[in-house]
Amino acid sequence: MIRCPECSAEIDVDEDEVEEGEILSCPECESELEVSQIHPVHLNIISEDDDDEDEEEEEEEEAEDGDKDLIEEEEEEEEDEE
Ligand SMILES: [Zn+2]
Repeated sequence: MIRCPECSAEIDVDEDEVEEGEILSCPECESELEVSQIHPVHLNIISEDDDDEDEEEEEEEEAEDGDKDLIEEEEEEEEDEE
């Protein structure tokens, strides 16, 4: 069983099934963990910017741009293979 180096929670991944470079995320603390080594598995915490305070700002931004309707589906243009 692999444990999160951040909070020591058990991560539901089989040690034999992970690959070097694989990114896992901890179900407990939601840290992103890169498999830096296997046999034995070693996880690196991928640290991002401090997020606790940022989250509030993001919420405000989201509320501000309520223009989802303006998003066009550009994918259709490329779907022309026949
Ligand atoms: Zn964790």
